[in-house]
Amino acid sequence: MHGTRILDEADRLMTVCNSCRYCEGLCAVFPAMEMRRAFSDGDLNYLANLCHSCGACYTDCQFSPPHEFNVNVPRTLAVARAESYAAYAWPRAFSGAFARNGLVISLVAALSVAAFIFGFAALHDRQVLLGVHTGPGAFYKLMPHNAMAALFGAAFLYAIVALVMGVRAFWRDIGEPVGMRTDMAALLQAIRDAGELRYLDGGGVGCFNEDDRPTDRRRLYHHLTFYGFALCFASTCVATLYHYLLAREAPYAWWDLPVVLGTLGGIGLLIGPIGLLAERWKRDPVLVDEARYGMDVAFIVMLFLTSLTGMALLMLRETAAMGPLLALHLGVVFSLFVTMPYGKFVHGIYRFAALVRYAMERRAMAQGTAE
Ligand code: SF4
Ligand code: SF4
Repeated sequence: MHGTRILDEADRLMTVCNSCRYCEGLCAVFPAMEMRRAFSDGDLNYLANLCHSCGACYTDCQFSPPHEFNVNVPRTLAVARAESYAAYAWPRAFSGAFARNGLVISLVAALSVAAFIFGFAALHDRQVLLGVHTGPGAFYKLMPHNAMAALFGAAFLYAIVALVMGVRAFWRDIGEPVGMRTDMAALLQAIRDAGELRYLDGGGVGCFNEDDRPTDRRRLYHHLTFYGFALCFASTCVATLYHYLLAREAPYAWWDLPVVLGTLGGIGLLIGPIGLLAERWKRDPVLVDEARYGMDVAFIVMLFLTSLTGMALLMLRETAAMGPLLALHLGVVFSLFVTMPYGKFVHGIYRFAALVRYAMERRAMAQGTAE
């Protein structure tokens, strides 16, 4: 017996699959499964987070419904994965509410912070909110730089602490002691696998949709989203260095590095999330965890809104729309930060930790075979 019903079901399926082994070439889940004869809760959460939900093992399976074995690995691991996000979340109390109402909570948080900044500025000096401001320091007319840095620094720090606590619990549960020596080769292999989204290819043909025709679009949109996010993060880091090291205040010119990185990242974050939502919409319902739709899409929607408001701000920063747009953009970014540890963002972190563990297991096995 496991801690939850979905882990009982995952155990049943992994036992069937371990006898069959037909899918062992499709992804990392099946080779990792074959290294085990029995499955602890941590093992099953590890396997669930190794799965990229491509759907290939459902389409290929001779035991999928209506067969009496009722084997549906993608959906079972998707539910187990989502429950693992809640199980490892810190503090745990926040995860349940977010799993049920993720999108609503994110939007309410974004609008509340935007309304607060908007209202504060409007009451203080309407001209600051609705006037035209240009040149270095224009953004800080609405909110002083130190106040902005303190508010967003605190939100970011909170997100980092919550994420570290979550991944620490996950790493410990899948059987690795916290603080163990890093296996550099395994780490590099995991970075390569994550960077290429190696296991999001359905064994080479792409992800499966409702019409059973595999395509590689889901991987493409994942790449655009991930690298778009990374470029926007790099843009923020460069702007921070500009501010503190070079005493150069935003907004910057079109050709300046923070704007170039932010624009490229912003384009990725407009196309990638829309593509992911469209692919999510088209997926065969039998493959996905419909009960957590809100949590699933909340992070993608917030990424899209962050980019949309950021790009609108870039276009209209020299007009009277700058103040309201900046308030809206700051509200969305604040909400993105504080909801990150309870939404789909964590799947990237846990999946990466699972890939590190998998690379370590593979290396240990190869060394054992060689000896
Ligand atoms: S998913 Fe089906 S075909 Fe694939 S290993 Fe499991 S039982 Fe075999
Ligand atoms: S859905 Fe794809 S990634 Fe997940 S177990 Fe099946 S083949 Fe592997």
